[in-house]
Amino acid sequence: MALWVNIRRSVDEAVLHKERCIEVPSIPTRSDFWEGGWFEYPDKDTALDALEQSGVVRQVKCRLCKP
Ligand SMILES: [Zn+2]
Repeated sequence: MALWVNIRRSVDEAVLHKERCIEVPSIPTRSDFWEGGWFEYPDKDTALDALEQSGVVRQVKCRLCKP
């Protein structure tokens, strides 16, 4: 199952989501890893790695979809 990471550098936070979470936009806006945005990963390990490497202060999991 794919997972999404929403990087929000403006608030220094990255959030992990499941693929079908209602918060994941159906058409994600163009993203830049250094600016922020939505990033899709093929599995949880890869997504967690990306979360760690994002470098933001708060790395959290979505409360809605509980990835
Ligand atoms: Zn979610």
